[in-house]
Parts: sequence; structure tokens; C-alpha cells
Amino acid sequence: MTQAPADQQLRERASKVIPNGMYGHQAAPGAAYPQFMRGGRGARIWDVDGNEYVDLMCSYGPVVLGHQHPRVEAAAAEQAARGDCQNGPGPVMVDLAELMVRTVRHADWAIFAKNGTDATTMCVTIARAQTGRSKILVATGAYHGAAPWCTPRLAGTTPEDRANLGYYTYNDLASVQSAAAEAGHDLAGILVSPFKHDAGYDQELVDPGFARGLRALCDATGAALILDDVRCGFRLHLGSSWEPVGVDPDLSAWSKAIANGRALAAVLGNDAFRRGATEIFVTGSFWFSAVPMAAAVATIGTLRDEDAVENMRRMGTRLRDGIVDQARSWDLAVRYTGPPAMPYLTFADDKDHELAGVFAAQALRGGAYLHPRHNWFVSAAMTGDDLALALEATDQAFAAVRKHLGQ
Ligand code: PMP
Repeated sequence: MTQAPADQQLRERASKVIPNGMYGHQAAPGAAYPQFMRGGRGARIWDVDGNEYVDLMCSYGPVVLGHQHPRVEAAAAEQAARGDCQNGPGPVMVDLAELMVRTVRHADWAIFAKNGTDATTMCVTIARAQTGRSKILVATGAYHGAAPWCTPRLAGTTPEDRANLGYYTYNDLASVQSAAAEAGHDLAGILVSPFKHDAGYDQELVDPGFARGLRALCDATGAALILDDVRCGFRLHLGSSWEPVGVDPDLSAWSKAIANGRALAAVLGNDAFRRGATEIFVTGSFWFSAVPMAAAVATIGTLRDEDAVENMRRMGTRLRDGIVDQARSWDLAVRYTGPPAMPYLTFADDKDHELAGVFAAQALRGGAYLHPRHNWFVSAAMTGDDLALALEATDQAFAAVRKHLGQ
């Protein structure tokens, strides 16, 4: 009798002891996908059955320099040999806070945590503590985490969890102004992503006039401008993602890429919001662990020394140009949106992401791990060989879509 693949065996075991067999954003995005991964190096990853892929998801963002980056791993190992989870943080916490404050223009102070949701929730809490007001404006459809105030699924939440949110449309300043007017004197903050990256939809870069308008509105009302840089931070710019736009937030939320895959999040803020940050109570059993902080110091140093942001932009542009050319040669109408290092592909008239699913499944079989309903991520480890392999796979994937359409 032939043995079932390792992934299948693990799925069967998981289905008995893990709700739904898997939960959250890492539930395999389609039947063709492996659920369990064995490891990775550079821009390549292996599933538990040993299949190799070029990684275009980068662990959904955290891996920015590539898997197992030697300088980051050495810094983490060196710290681990001294200590990680202790009665107090290591000196590296101060090193990292200083480094982040130096690296991110709007920042005067830093607080560290573990997940993006910790960071966005803390930003909202600081804004309320500082202003003594309640209302936070968010863009309809934007993702800011999985806590009751922001989870996209309402099961288990109460209307009270959302009572102090107001909604606007991304890049539509008039909609923000009217939501702000409705909040009136109770406006504590406006939460915004660096660009519109709602899962499953075409992405939209920020209109600089919109960003400036939010800044002006916050200046006029005393509300906090909060940038959710959890997904984009340090992949688009070595600083806040809105520095190139010329707009500085008061508070920003970070996680994913700051420690190249180690568990770490950060809130950065300016002096105007320092008081709010000193008044709230925030902590966590693992928030002070020294190893992820050492990894973050090495990650930020490497991003700078290796010009990684520019490398990601360059490889991402080559990926985009290749894929857009392929779509044209297969006579398929697609939209390829977002910054080159965080792209997303949709097909015209694609109901329920059916064509995206066919494309992604075939790309996977051809050795490129990308996603049908979530933006992709390019890492700085991507080589010309990785790119060539990924493009071979996407060409086969377009062929599969063409065949699926029956023409
Ligand atoms: N904000 C944004 C923009 C995100 O992309 C995410 C994670 N996908 C979060 C917040 C929440 O981060 P975490 O899953 O680490 O809690």
C-alpha cells in the first residue's frame, strides 16, 4: 500500500485537533496547495513532501530578506545563546528603539509587541488616551487585524465592539470629511493603510492629495493620523511607507517584515502623542523577548546595507513586466496592481476568483507559490534564476486559464 503524502497525513490529524483543520490566513488557499511547510532558504521554500517552490508570498509578508538570511540568523543565534525570554528585556530593546526612531522619520519613540493586531489596537488605544475622545475612522473593507474591533468576521463580536468606528472610502477625501463631521468633537483618530490592499480586490496606490488631506484634517481636529504599516513597512521604503508621499503620521503600526520572520511588532509615535503612550497599560508575556529584537536590528541593518528595498522594486518590476507580457501573449485581460514588491493579479470578469484559482494552482504545480485572493510579496533574495522559474510557471498558468476558458 502506498503511503499518503505527508501533507495529507498531517491534514487528517489536524482535522481532529485544530478547528476547521486550520484557521486564519494560513489555511491553504486552495485544494492544490500544501498546508504544511518544511522550510526555506533565500527565495525558495519546500513543503512537507519536499516539493520546491519560488516563494512569492514570503510567509504573507514577514520574510523580506529571504528565508534564513545569514546575518539575521547569526544575530538571532548570538542573542539566543545569551537569553531570550527573561525577567527584563535585553539591552537590544533600547538599541532597536533607537534604530527604529532613527530610521522612521515621524518616530520619536517605540513600543514593541508581537503581532500586527497588537500594534493597530495599541495605536487606537493611544489615540483615545491622548485625545480623551472615542471615534476612529477606518476605510470600508480595510484589514487592520483580528481583534473584535476589527476582525472581518463578526462571529463572536458585539455591536459595542464597533460602536466607536466610523467609515470612509479609501482615496475619497470627501468621504473622510463627512465621517469626521459625523464624529464631531469625539474624533480620536483616522486609521489608514499606505495603499489600498484589501484582499481579493485590485490594489490602489494612495493619491498624495488624499494623504495630505488626512494630515490636514488631523492637524485641524487634533485627531491622530495612524498609518497601518503592518503589511508594507520596510518593503516599500526604509522608513514609513508614506515618507515618499511626504506625509508623516502621528502613530504607525508595524510587524511582518521588521524582524525578517521573527515574531515582533512595533508602534512608533511622535512626541505629540507620547503622553497617550505613557498612560495606557500594555504588555505581553513574550513582548520583551530579546531574540526577535536582535533579528530586527540585523534586518534593518541588512535592508540598508544591501539596498534591499530597491532590489525588491527592481525584481518586482521584472516580474510584473514578464507577467503582463505573458497575459498579452495569451490574449487574457488581466489587471496587475499595487507596488512592484507587493503585486496582485486579477482576471477580467472573474466570478468568485475562479480564473485566479486556476492560475494559482497551475503556477504552484510549475513551482511558483503565489496566491489567488491575496497580494503577493517579493523578497530581496529573489535571483534572476528564481525569477525565470517563476515566469515559466506563470506562463504555464496562463495556458491553463486559456484552456479552462475553452478557447
Ligand atoms: N494590518 C494589516 C495591514 C495587515 O496586513 C495585517 C496582517 N495581515 C494586520 C494588520 C494584522 O497583523 P497580525 O496578523 O500580525 O495580527
